Amino acid sequence: MKDRKWSDCPSCGAKGRMTLKKGMKETYQVKNYGIVTISDLSGYECSKCKERIFLIKSSNKINSAIVDLKAKKDSDKIVASELVPVEEFMKKFKKTRQRIHQMMEEGKIQYAYVGNLKFPLRSELRRG
Ligand SMILES: [Zn+2]
Repeated sequence: MKDRKWSDCPSCGAKGRMTLKKGMKETYQVKNYGIVTISDLSGYECSKCKERIFLIKSSNKINSAIVDLKAKKDSDKIVASELVPVEEFMKKFKKTRQRIHQMMEEGKIQYAYVGNLKFPLRSELRRG
């Protein structure tokens, strides 16, 4: 995927008001999980309505932060039997360890924490 250049605002329709900005900060309210703030984001912002469209890299960063917030909160209530070693996912999906970790970071596989370690959820194995 490639980033597109924005000039006209797709939200309010203002012409030529979208400008590329760096170092932006955004706060998200994630339902049932709380608030997460992500900084150092790049993207286009409308100078009229303040609508933002983040670059792909930055939206991935936002997605990762939200997934990680959920994983940390879920870790308190998930029991060990619901967690699966990464190796099982490697076998099932025929992917490398690195790729499985990447998929967790991208939010493609839900996970929870045990200490500092990330474990995929068993429900994800069934889904695949
Ligand atoms: Zn606008």
